[in-house]
Amino acid sequence: MSDCLFCKIIAGEIPSAKVYEDENVYAFRDIQPQAPTHILVVPREHIESVAALDESNSAAAARCLEAVARIARQEGLSGGFRVVSNAGDDAGQTVKHLHFHILGGCRLVDKMA
Ligand code: 5GP
Ligand code: ZN
Repeated sequence: MSDCLFCKIIAGEIPSAKVYEDENVYAFRDIQPQAPTHILVVPREHIESVAALDESNSAAAARCLEAVARIARQEGLSGGFRVVSNAGDDAGQTVKHLHFHILGGCRLVDKMA
């Protein structure tokens, strides 16, 4: 997707603070962190959101969640962390490329909404 911000970040056209990458996944620090550790994990494949997942592309999401676990260990989030994926306007999704937020490094608020 030529006009997708995260596709441009994955392609290196927009700089990012990379924390992890492999053949399927790219992960980088959120530009406006909402916790001491705030990382975005995205599939290299352009998928709009969790709402667009089906049997044809769900392996990309699985690879992202495997990366989440690896990154949480790498970042020392042994006390726990939260994974969030906003899908659609009601959830406040601002970038329409599937991504998983990793939030941690502090005691997170109890409520999720
Ligand atoms: P969403 O609101 O779609 O769930 O999350 C999008 C996230 O992308 C936001 O937390 C926002 O701070 C982050 N973001 C937006 N633009 C950029 C950027 O250019 N670089 C980085 N690293 N993060 C960005
Ligand atoms: Zn994209």
